[in-house]
Amino acid sequence: MTARSSMDIAVVGNGVLGLSIAAEIARRAPKLNIAVIGPPGRNLSASMAAGAMLNCFGEATKYTHQHPAAEAKFAIARQALDEWPAWLDRLCDDVGHDATALRASRTGGTFVLLSGRSGQLAQENFQAMRAALIKYDEPHEQVDPQDIEGLDPSPSARPSHAVHLPREGAIDARAVVTALEAAACRHGVHILPATVQALLAGADTVTGVRFTDGSTLRADTVILAAGSASSALADTVLPPGETPPMLHGNGLSLLTRRTVPHRAREVLRTPIRAGSCGLHLVPLAREDWEYIGANNMVTLHPAHGPGVGDGHAFLRQICEHLDQKIASSQVTQWLHGARPMSLDCFPLIGESSLRGLHFATGTYRDGFHCSPVIARQVADTVLNQATTNPDFDWFTPKRLPIQTMTVEQAIAEFASHEVDAAYEYGLTLPFWLDSETVAQHSRQRARRVHEELDELVALPPDNLMALQGLTASEGLADLRLYLHAARTYHQKPTQATAV
Ligand SMILES: Cc1cc2nc3c(=O)[nH]c(=O)nc-3n(C[C@H](O)[C@H](O)[C@H](O)COP(=O)(O)OP(=O)(O)OC[C@H]3O[C@@H](n4cnc5c(N)ncnc54)[C@H](O)[C@@H]3O)c2cc1C
Repeated sequence: MTARSSMDIAVVGNGVLGLSIAAEIARRAPKLNIAVIGPPGRNLSASMAAGAMLNCFGEATKYTHQHPAAEAKFAIARQALDEWPAWLDRLCDDVGHDATALRASRTGGTFVLLSGRSGQLAQENFQAMRAALIKYDEPHEQVDPQDIEGLDPSPSARPSHAVHLPREGAIDARAVVTALEAAACRHGVHILPATVQALLAGADTVTGVRFTDGSTLRADTVILAAGSASSALADTVLPPGETPPMLHGNGLSLLTRRTVPHRAREVLRTPIRAGSCGLHLVPLAREDWEYIGANNMVTLHPAHGPGVGDGHAFLRQICEHLDQKIASSQVTQWLHGARPMSLDCFPLIGESSLRGLHFATGTYRDGFHCSPVIARQVADTVLNQATTNPDFDWFTPKRLPIQTMTVEQAIAEFASHEVDAAYEYGLTLPFWLDSETVAQHSRQRARRVHEELDELVALPPDNLMALQGLTASEGLADLRLYLHAARTYHQKPTQATAV
């Protein structure tokens, strides 16, 4: 094994988080040697498939105000809403004359639409958004859906309500990632086109990384921002059970070009849907070009691509709910990324038991939006600068899965997600059956998963969707092992182990 070299800080992962963190640290501490490591193709990167809606209130759900951890996550999203304008200005300053295209890629304003075909859950999420808008005095306006430019749903899916959020929009994710890489380089960050195979550690500190070609890089600080691949890397040095494992929230999205001129000027989206994200249409800077997203197919292991059935349903729904004319648009690029979803669906941000190993992942649906705040927080911690953001305390990677409900509530919630999703996918029942038939079946499957896991841990509905069809050999056994290890690990005082 050869030693490549050494760095003060190695950032593993070249998505929006890895690059934002590296750029932020390099701006503040120009003397540090920093490397961002990742494959140039950024395979499975969530950032490269993202909308990227800079939405906070548009992402609110009925769960947002039901637990302090969810409130803390929402507080981070609100901070990001305030910070994006200045963050974007700084990024534009960093990239100098290339900034015009980046600025032009920003879309201002979002319409959140409650479609006539939305399920119960989307309705509850819409109500939760409205309550949050009032609670936090966020500017918004109730609008007549007929007045929204570019909205042309099928007759059965006409929105019953629409709210305009002037401060929430979107930005071209791919343009931001390119700009962040340029900004990081301009501040002296080394971009290493490589894949990390394992992290390296001494008795109680991280010491660097090993690449897939066997060479190594020494670093006293390693920031793990490898998206949904982060758990597999953490497992190479951390004791079993220390951090909740990561699942893969596979999302399909598309870049398209209109053939029929009829175009939204602002983001059109639905509220968060059962076990998924909102359907969204984002106009891009180039005339007639759009981004459409997205669905969410959760898997325990990395997927080779989005599911055909999920993709089929998503394309039908986006035309039905937002604009029928999308059907005649031309696909210029299919995008697939894996949202980094921890087992409890909350982020993993902070230092691990291994001194110098910091996590920056688990952002699930809104990591692009939250990236400026997460970058500041991780930079504060790594540079030992006073941190005053208690909202992050919840998300230390050294934790048991955060429990926001009881097992019985989790089973009931999962059943309601399944019923909603079934209707959204086109379920119709004869008059002598009602949705209770679906709910009962879903409750049985959710109960079986909880029983097989052999630990009283309530699983969030989004993740249960991935687990409910699995047998022990397909992954439940691994999860059971993790839960046993987590219980044992967190019963004793947290300590680092030599690996
Ligand atoms: C379809 C879709 C739509 C989305 N829409 C939005 C949205 O509108 N708004 C929003 O805020 N968020 C959105 N998200 C979520 C958002 O994209 C993520 O939360 C965020 O991008 C995560 O960024 P990241 O840098 O942590 O991970 P990633 O972007 O996944 O980056 C991780 C990087 O690490 C690299 N890597 C993996 N393994 C290794 C290794 N062993 N060695 C080195 N490098 C490695 C990967 O190749 C990748 O480039 C969406 C996600 C998807 C999939």
